[in-house]
Amino acid sequence: MAQLIDGKAIAAAIRTETAAESAAFRSAGVTPKLAVILVGDDPASGQYVRNKEKACAEAGIVSETIRLPGSSDTAALLDRIRLLNEDPAVHGLLVQVPLPKQIDEAAVLLAVSPEKDVDCFHPLNVGRLIAGFDADSFVPCTPAGIVEMLMRSGNPPAGKRVVIVGRSAIVGKPLALLLMGKGPSADATVTVCHTRTPDLAVFTRTADILVAAAGRPEMIRGDMVRSGAVVIDVGTNRVPDPTGAKPYRWVGDVCFDEVFPKASHISPVPGGVGPMTIAMLLRNTLTACRRHERSRST
Ligand code: NDP
Repeated sequence: MAQLIDGKAIAAAIRTETAAESAAFRSAGVTPKLAVILVGDDPASGQYVRNKEKACAEAGIVSETIRLPGSSDTAALLDRIRLLNEDPAVHGLLVQVPLPKQIDEAAVLLAVSPEKDVDCFHPLNVGRLIAGFDADSFVPCTPAGIVEMLMRSGNPPAGKRVVIVGRSAIVGKPLALLLMGKGPSADATVTVCHTRTPDLAVFTRTADILVAAAGRPEMIRGDMVRSGAVVIDVGTNRVPDPTGAKPYRWVGDVCFDEVFPKASHISPVPGGVGPMTIAMLLRNTLTACRRHERSRST
């Protein structure tokens, strides 16, 4: 039987640390602030943004959400980004993705000032990630949250075989970069799988630590997991649930009932990686604040 990795509890501990740091900024006369641009009315994005607002409020970080109509064009969005880039009261800035189809997403992500890029999507910050961190670099939120979950649940990745299912720019790839880096929270041997990987199960069965980030409900079955493996489920999939109080429920990429008896540790969905992503966003906002204050004083 696996032990649950309680992302909610770990994230709460990190939020407490963040609130203390935020209080220190405030008593020095600086109010950390995060601005979020939300374009359109996608219900999932709306929910993510509300969760971010709530977490900011609890951590003593001011949040401002700029809601733009779904019909907005790239130029309108770039204008708003420019204003927020120039606003010294705004420390962190993110544009909620996915964006409506007519908007040039690459142009938008490039326009966010690298100094305020708390999602760590800007190529300059991705480059810093590849080159290796200094303490004040932004970290990609979901991958960094996964590393924290491993460390704080007593499963450091150093020396372990890690298999990641998924190679997206926001989860799989940056997670591989973090884990293959040097240091006590890295030093893993990493394999990244995707839709062109033949015989996926051959790879997943080799994993000491298996990370599922494919966005395919319950695709990781019990026979794909080595006995005693640590399993991190990033997938967040809404599936129909005609029997429940709501017409849908959330499931991960891991078939929990089959994998739970085999794994040594497993993160649930919901209550696993999701809360960690937000905790890391708060941390990046304070990193932005710290960097801003330092650049003002030099
Ligand atoms: P993407 O759709 O951008 O990427 C999915 C990746 O999984 C791709 O690399 C794809 O391969 C691979 N993949 C899909 N199906 C298979 C398969 N059958 N076998 C092997 N590989 C497969 O998704 P994201 O990375 O953005 O998100 C992944 C999941 O994580 C989603 O459910 C998302 O909702 C969730 N998520 C959760 C977060 C949280 O905070 N909890 C944050 C971010 C994401 P290929 O490249 O070949 O197409």
